[in-house]
Amino acid sequence: MAAKTSYDVVIIGGGFAGVTAARDLQKRGLSTIVLEARDRLGGRTFYEERNGFHVELGGTWIHWTQPFVWAEKERYGLEVQETPGCVAERIAIKMDGTVQDLQEAQLGEFVEGFERFFAESKGVWERPYDIHHCWDAVCERDGMSVADRLHALDLTPLQRTSIGGFLEILSMNQPQNASYVEMMRTWSLTGWNYPLFNDTAARYKFTKGTGALVEAISRDGGFEVALNTPVRSVQHSSDGVRVTTESGEQLMAQRAVVTVPLNVLHSVEFEPPLSELKLEASKLKHVGGGCKVFFEVEGDPGAVMTLSRSTDSPLIGSFTYKRGEKHSVLAGFSLEPDALEKSVAEWQLVLEEFIPGIKLLSTFGHDWGGDDLSRGSWCTYRPGTVARFTDELPRQEGHLFFASGDHAQGWRGFIEGAIASGSRTAVQVAETLSA
Ligand SMILES: Cc1cc2nc3c(=O)[nH]c(=O)nc-3n(C[C@H](O)[C@H](O)[C@H](O)COP(=O)(O)OP(=O)(O)OC[C@H]3O[C@@H](n4cnc5c(N)ncnc54)[C@H](O)[C@@H]3O)c2cc1C
Repeated sequence: MAAKTSYDVVIIGGGFAGVTAARDLQKRGLSTIVLEARDRLGGRTFYEERNGFHVELGGTWIHWTQPFVWAEKERYGLEVQETPGCVAERIAIKMDGTVQDLQEAQLGEFVEGFERFFAESKGVWERPYDIHHCWDAVCERDGMSVADRLHALDLTPLQRTSIGGFLEILSMNQPQNASYVEMMRTWSLTGWNYPLFNDTAARYKFTKGTGALVEAISRDGGFEVALNTPVRSVQHSSDGVRVTTESGEQLMAQRAVVTVPLNVLHSVEFEPPLSELKLEASKLKHVGGGCKVFFEVEGDPGAVMTLSRSTDSPLIGSFTYKRGEKHSVLAGFSLEPDALEKSVAEWQLVLEEFIPGIKLLSTFGHDWGGDDLSRGSWCTYRPGTVARFTDELPRQEGHLFFASGDHAQGWRGFIEGAIASGSRTAVQVAETLSA
């Protein structure tokens, strides 16, 4: 329940985009409230205790190649810890039906595969925050999927499997559904460099969880928060914005910042309606799906990474997440719709193919695809949509502003993108109010 009926700014959604925008606006002296449908802030990041382990059920890894989130980490003095399986002692790859350990002599071939796959990246994303810098190159390849690019290259089986598996994790979908241009953007953001690409993907996580950063931003920001407050509709005119919650409560504001995930944006009613292109993008949905599944195992499996394509295993990748003498935890990724319903016995068979002798004790995770407030995991655009949607999704409409990791420039699809987008949008909103 809101304390007042009128604010300078109302923020719809309290993930990283929302809380960052709220902090930056409140600190500029604008009265700001976050309306969040869940019973907690953080959105698609969710640090929780499950089965006696503290894990990140959603967004997890950050890196200093990501300037906004790393600045927040430094600003609030938050510690990070390493993920053992990202600097693996053993990488088990399933190819041609059998699991093999990556040998030191194969490392060159492995990395060369990524370099060949991404060979066009510099010409497409010479400036990965600016889609217009190499606009023609983006448009020429926009229709291509990861599968199209894989088919066009003469790769070795090791290269095909490792790139295929890695990019299925990065996109959380099959190669035919993921945009090749978008994968090149991430590679470019890490300096066209495999070790940085790998480390950015899964090496450093907050020691006290992403929740510690959400908490630090909220405390510092001092903005008002209304949890358990789903927004049903938004009306806007030159006079301002009227927001109606599911329970019928109404709030007035001079400006609104909409931060709900792309895949659920169309479930909020807007009057006048959102642009046709925004609605089309939301109804079409981004293709980031799949499941992050945690495996509690007996003993210490060591620092292990596994990799496979979804055509060969329900487990496209996993790595040791926490090591312990008695129990350890692996974080895994799967594109199977029933991944979280599979029994321990079913996953045991899958895991022991990669890690012989392993004993699985339990599995757990959060179903982000089945969650009405996310309808997907992290954002991956479909082939053929990047050029059309990139400028439109964050475009202001009247007194409505849009911030989200799902349409950030640069690190789209990441915590970094959400913070960058929230921060940038706060400046835009504040400028219109002080003009
Ligand atoms: C399993 C998983 C793993 C990931 N791993 C990583 C990773 O390792 N590193 C990384 O950088 N990123 C990762 N991501 C992506 C990252 O978590 C997201 O990009 C980022 O958190 C998105 O933030 P956001 O604020 O844009 O959206 P969200 O966090 O989704 O916030 C939007 C908020 O809007 C709320 N909402 C929705 N509808 C309404 C409504 N009608 N009224 C009010 N509120 C509403 C939602 O409840 C939510 O809290 C991962 C995501 C998932 C799901």
